[in-house]
Amino acid sequence: MTVKTRFAPSPTGFLHVGGARTALYSWLYAKNQGGEFVLRIEDTDLERSTQEAVDAILEGMSWLGLDWDEGPYYQTKRFARYDEVVEQLLAAGKAYKCYASKALLDEVRAEQEANKENPRYDANHPKIKAVNDAAKDGDAFVVRFRNPKEGSVVFADQIRGRIEIRNDQLDDLIIRRTDGSPTYNFCVVVDDWDMGITHVVRGEDHINNTARQINIYEALGATVPTFAHCAMILGDDGAKLSKRHGAVSVMQYRDDGYLPEALNNYLVRLGWSHGDQEIFSRDEMIEHFSLNAISKSASAFNTDKLLWLNHHYIKTSDPEYVAGHLQWHLDHQGINPENGPAVTEVIQLLADRVQTLVELAQQARYFYEDFDAFDEAAAKKHLRPVAKEPLVLALEKITALETWTTENLHQVITDVCETLELGMGKVGMPLRVAVTGGGQSPSVDATMQLIGKARVMKRIQMAIEFIEQREANAG
Ligand code: GLU
Repeated sequence: MTVKTRFAPSPTGFLHVGGARTALYSWLYAKNQGGEFVLRIEDTDLERSTQEAVDAILEGMSWLGLDWDEGPYYQTKRFARYDEVVEQLLAAGKAYKCYASKALLDEVRAEQEANKENPRYDANHPKIKAVNDAAKDGDAFVVRFRNPKEGSVVFADQIRGRIEIRNDQLDDLIIRRTDGSPTYNFCVVVDDWDMGITHVVRGEDHINNTARQINIYEALGATVPTFAHCAMILGDDGAKLSKRHGAVSVMQYRDDGYLPEALNNYLVRLGWSHGDQEIFSRDEMIEHFSLNAISKSASAFNTDKLLWLNHHYIKTSDPEYVAGHLQWHLDHQGINPENGPAVTEVIQLLADRVQTLVELAQQARYFYEDFDAFDEAAAKKHLRPVAKEPLVLALEKITALETWTTENLHQVITDVCETLELGMGKVGMPLRVAVTGGGQSPSVDATMQLIGKARVMKRIQMAIEFIEQREANAG
């Protein structure tokens, strides 16, 4: 039997990290088993579903690289099929029409509550029975599934083990509303059945639905899939993860400068483990993934760990690949990389110093753009009158350089230090502030090499003038 899993989001908002983790686990299990992964959009809630949310989900899935073998299917395109199955259940007596109005159901519920009974739909309640018996053609009705009254639903959850839910806790579920629209628990079963889904991976908030759904599978004579219910994700304060904890939308992580590898690696470990390994390439995740190694307990989100992973992937991924993702941030920050060195070289120089692509883009700016002012604190400290002589001498030697290499630039700095009998810092720091505008950068020789000769000369000259201006003002 080929394993087939699915991710079935309701398009009522963006793809959040909880959904993304569920999608990742489903996807990984399919890949691990050499199976297939289906994407299904559960858009039957017409009021809450939007095209924008569908687009956001597709965008998030693509950004994470969670490609699907089938779909996206849309439930709204399958209404005829749901109707057909409703009719089949009605004909077999496994579902029935119920004419009770909302007002009557509310009345019965209030009565049950007053009698300290468990409030639930009861087809045998005399008032409900009377209405149903008296119904005539043309009266509005819903279709309810005839849930078994006795016994329990038992299933072997791949994460949580044996789960048993008594049938007397489940009432006769509405499967088609008065307006003819089918309901969630019913559509899911018809879809998973029709699409040949063998393993359903989803959040533990669906456990009660699973029991109802298993009864429907059985009524249809369909094979019941295997279930795996994942525990919740909590924020670092122990509360359920929400917007309050910062980014929860997958695309917000893109905007905040994460690589999809980092988020995937982070999410796979958030509730799943393989020994004490932390870093997993995509192939390793696929190779080692299993449903029963997913944790039963809730996992807490830890942004520092995500940043650590992001740093790792920025540093170790192919610079060409990082460049592809950095481009979005360069565009976003209005930096045009055509005005300077190859982005891959800038990445190689800066990767060790940043945790996000946002920082990488920010720090890349001086390679591509001139500036008209130095960072105030850095200039105050390093562009002082004593720095003028080493800058003038460095400019002279740099101007005379015939081959523009990091080694030659290093030699220039060493020569200036020797000639003026100054320590490295007294030459390197003013040069750094001069060419980058600030006090922090990778090693100044390699930085100057990448910035390029013309810009370096112009910027040192600007620093010299800055110092002269400062002297003039002081005098
Ligand atoms: N559409 C449901 C949701 O977004 C998921 C249903 C399922 O995975 O079975 O919560």
